[in-house]
Amino acid sequence: MAPPKTYGDDLELVATIQALLADPAQRDSPLREPLEQLLGHFQGQRERLERLVRISDGYHHVAREQRLSLVEQYDKQVRRLEKLVRISDRYQNSLRELSLALRDAAMHDSLTGLGNRRYLMERLREENDRTLRLGRGFAVAIMDVDHFKLVNDEHGHEVGDLVLQAIARAVETGLRKYDHCGRWGGEEFLMLLPETPLDQALVIVERIRHAVSTIDRVGEQRVALTASFGLAEHHGEEGFSATISRADQALYAAKAAGRNRVASA
Ligand code: GH3
Ligand code: MG
Ligand code: MG
Repeated sequence: MAPPKTYGDDLELVATIQALLADPAQRDSPLREPLEQLLGHFQGQRERLERLVRISDGYHHVAREQRLSLVEQYDKQVRRLEKLVRISDRYQNSLRELSLALRDAAMHDSLTGLGNRRYLMERLREENDRTLRLGRGFAVAIMDVDHFKLVNDEHGHEVGDLVLQAIARAVETGLRKYDHCGRWGGEEFLMLLPETPLDQALVIVERIRHAVSTIDRVGEQRVALTASFGLAEHHGEEGFSATISRADQALYAAKAAGRNRVASA
């Protein structure tokens, strides 16, 4: 017996059935009507299935699109966030630089470039603490330019400023690298000499007094300058303001004794 015919796919089977139904020789076959109904039913099912497949494909497509756009949105947010972090880093860096510059400006005298009174107070406090801890002394000298008002009166305030700058350089040059100096105010300068007994401090301060007295011109202007100094060595447990006070009194004595000299407390 021949094996039953197999059909490649549904379409081939449908075509075969349609051909049989169209064949006039089969017109009176009792199978004709149920076969027609079966074919109609089959085609209805097939259309329904195709519609479902189309809906499902569409759904997958939309889901894929949404997934892609979510990934894109996420990437965009990540990039935006990275940019914000970079901006914030830059902002923080410039803030840090600004605060360092502000601190520096707050500690320095803009005319002479030396430390200002605030700077000197910090150094004095440090030195005082160190002395209390380690028992090593320090010396303080206060310098006041003699008759400075006359310099302004004779040459003008601008030359007066140049003189203060020249004096600042003379003080800096005369000190050792671990000494501190600054502008205490107006035409007064303070020198802080760590671990220095009075006799050694005297030698250094005398050197500076001499250097100031040899400044004979600033720019085109000829000037004659001297300065007086009050020197004090830190004593035992006294606070640094007591030492400064004694240096101030010595300065007063140096002025009273004729200026252009160093007096020790
Ligand atoms: P003495 O020898 O007694 O110290 O006399 P002096 O003239 O130096 O003292 P006085 O305190 O009478 O005058 C100080 C002068 O210093 C007055 C003030 O105008 C001047 N001075 C203070 N700061 C500055 C400054 O930054 N620039 C200039 N050009 N002058 C200043
Ligand atoms: Mg003065
Ligand atoms: Mg003076």
